[in-house]
Amino acid sequence: MAVSLVLGGLRKRLLSPYPFIRRLISTLVLAEHEGGLVKPSSMSSVAAARAISEENPISILLGGTGPTLQEAASHAASFHPSISQVLIADSEKLKHPLAEPWADLIHLVQGKGGYSHIIAASTSFGKNVMPRAAALLDVSPITDVTTISGPQLFVRPIYAGNALCTIRYAGSDPCMLTIRPTAFPLSSMTSGRVSDTAAISQVDLSTFSEESNGKSRWLNHTSQETECPDLGNARIIITGGRGLKNAENFKLIEKLAHKLGAAVGATRAAVDAGYCPNELQVGQTGKIVAPELYIAFGVSGAIQHLAGMKDSKTIVAVNKDEDAAIFQVADYGLVGDLFQVIPELLEKLPEKK
Ligand code: FAD
Repeated sequence: MAVSLVLGGLRKRLLSPYPFIRRLISTLVLAEHEGGLVKPSSMSSVAAARAISEENPISILLGGTGPTLQEAASHAASFHPSISQVLIADSEKLKHPLAEPWADLIHLVQGKGGYSHIIAASTSFGKNVMPRAAALLDVSPITDVTTISGPQLFVRPIYAGNALCTIRYAGSDPCMLTIRPTAFPLSSMTSGRVSDTAAISQVDLSTFSEESNGKSRWLNHTSQETECPDLGNARIIITGGRGLKNAENFKLIEKLAHKLGAAVGATRAAVDAGYCPNELQVGQTGKIVAPELYIAFGVSGAIQHLAGMKDSKTIVAVNKDEDAAIFQVADYGLVGDLFQVIPELLEKLPEKK
């Protein structure tokens, strides 16, 4: 099913009333970084910017403070020739992913750069910051975009991925998008040279400090130490559902993932029952993933779960109920008891080197 709608009533700059006047496209990518490297999800935003137009000068906006910010800027500048400049906003206020100062920063940078498009990945950070920045800029953001067909035409899934909605953006600049990183793999990026080396420059933050007195305060950050790859970037994901029955049994999933060098995923039922932490949840209200191989054990295949994994390249399902909905999306299905299948796999698979 496809639904079409037109967003926004104001036709200011994005839709030129004079067809002979070609509008200028330029995109600002809000990038996340960690350990001196731009995160892969933000690189996918660059791939999305390339899909808007091949003649699209791309500016990357990086914020934070300290030496890793400079390292991330060098990484961004050399990432792809279509990147024309890297903007660094060096401020203590941007040290943490709080939406208020970051939205203020986007507002400030857009005021100076006048970009036609602003893109961020649909990560927790992007989903938090972009609507707030869009409100400051008085435009309607388009979220979770999976296909870009030019500067104004976008596709996004609705109803937990059961329908695709095609949106023609007819609002004023900037057109603000969050994109689903798995839909814009780096391999989809065409080459093309807009600039030889991206210039790195500092954003003038002289007016920023007074503007950004948000009401939120950063308290702390907790993360689990794990040897497994991150769910968002993993090539293989092994997911456990309520069929695992308890947290002790869920360790079978972790053991198998460890042997295969895979990330661990879970259904919401498994998370709610306390088998594993909620950062492992895949689905509509969890992470959206599209690995090369997705293996689901004891997962029924509810639409909310399928919404997060059905774009995986190869799906394998093991379930003792032959009528389980997961078999409808599985490339390979095994009707069987996971408590027999996983120990057999663990025995037959070689030890990880
Ligand atoms: P169940 O549906 O209980 O399925 C367990 C399966 O295990 C069954 O198919 C059973 O046959 C099988 N099984 C049992 N024992 C064995 C065995 N020994 N060997 C093999 N198979 C066995 N869910 C998500 O996953 N992600 C989301 O993001 C998400 N978001 C939601 C948002 C909303 C607004 C709502 C309303 C729901 C959401 N849900 C989400 C919940 C979703 O509807 C399902 O309840 C959930 O996905 C079911 O998880 P499950 O498949 O693990 O459990």
